[in-house]
Amino acid sequence: MTAAIVPPPSSRRSRASTLRLDRFPRHALTFGPSPIERLDRLTAHLGGRVEIFAKREDCNSGLAFGGNKLRKLEYLIPDALAQGCDTLVSIGGVQSNHTRQVAGAAAKLGLKCRLVQESWVNLHDAVYDRVGNIMLSRILGADVRLVDQGFDIGFRPSWEDAMEEVRRAGGKPYAIPAGASDHELGGLGFVHWAEEVRRQEDELGVTFDYVVVCSVTGSTQAGMVVGFAADGRADRVIGIDASAEPAKTRDQILRIAQRTAALVDLGRDITDADIVLDTRFAAPEYGLPSEGTLEAIRLSARLDGMLTDPVYEGKSMHGMIDLIREGTIPAGSRVLYAHLGGVPALNGYSSLFRNG
Ligand SMILES: *Cc1c(COP(=O)(O)O)cnc(C)c1O
Repeated sequence: MTAAIVPPPSSRRSRASTLRLDRFPRHALTFGPSPIERLDRLTAHLGGRVEIFAKREDCNSGLAFGGNKLRKLEYLIPDALAQGCDTLVSIGGVQSNHTRQVAGAAAKLGLKCRLVQESWVNLHDAVYDRVGNIMLSRILGADVRLVDQGFDIGFRPSWEDAMEEVRRAGGKPYAIPAGASDHELGGLGFVHWAEEVRRQEDELGVTFDYVVVCSVTGSTQAGMVVGFAADGRADRVIGIDASAEPAKTRDQILRIAQRTAALVDLGRDITDADIVLDTRFAAPEYGLPSEGTLEAIRLSARLDGMLTDPVYEGKSMHGMIDLIREGTIPAGSRVLYAHLGGVPALNGYSSLFRNG
């Protein structure tokens, strides 16, 4: 599907949920519920007929600048501790936000951390592998290794090798796949997030008609789809693909959502019809911004002081703005933009912002 086909807004619906999330232990790595704020100036700039809110996972924790991966790790960490693991092993691109959050969690828990950083992005800025996320992971004490491999959200030999090396050195590794996604428990963090949004809707006295979320490795959207399926809103979660390999991302969202639905006793199957993924905003490729991405980054920064990055959130911001402008998100709607973090990566793209 190219354009997102989304149902019309409706003001009243039941918000009851009977999901069995409580059977899974959660190790808190975040401050608690992340704040929801209204983006007043962006709302006005786009005509004022669609009300825009942001839920701020970019400031959800004091741990290494936070982000969406901590939400997932909250459910993986108890499993790692129960298994007696002493080293978290994970993988990502050179400027991976995910691996930086794994490094932060490892530090907080007193675990070791081994990271495989692959060459997922065709950007050859002289300091790309020295600044931003990778610098933070090094400061956090992770054993960071650069590997010359291209972009792929699947399982990788370099990651298996890292696990084996930890074992040979007498350690007990805990495997965390790219984005903490394709893991038995990877979808639970954002089921929890959906439950949190429901509580915040009650507190704020609003109901969100749509949630806009950036998707690459898929478990963020998958968890939201399951969480919102509980009150009939699965297809109100509009994924904006940033992988530029949408077939793989869509496949992974569906697979993780199905697995997660079974874990929490959703009571129905998740099907392809529950997954909305707009593929128009990932250009030119994973990790590189289009002119539209850069315009969205500057617009959001200059209107509401909210920073986004060229890999992920700039693309979902671009997507949300266009969906509102073209009327796919119709007048009268309330939209929740899930800000998933990623701002430290901006440092790797300094050449694009020399003039602001
Ligand atoms: C990882 C990440 C995403 C994508 O989330 P997935 O669960 O991999 O689909 C979006 N935005 C930011 C900032 C991220 O770090």
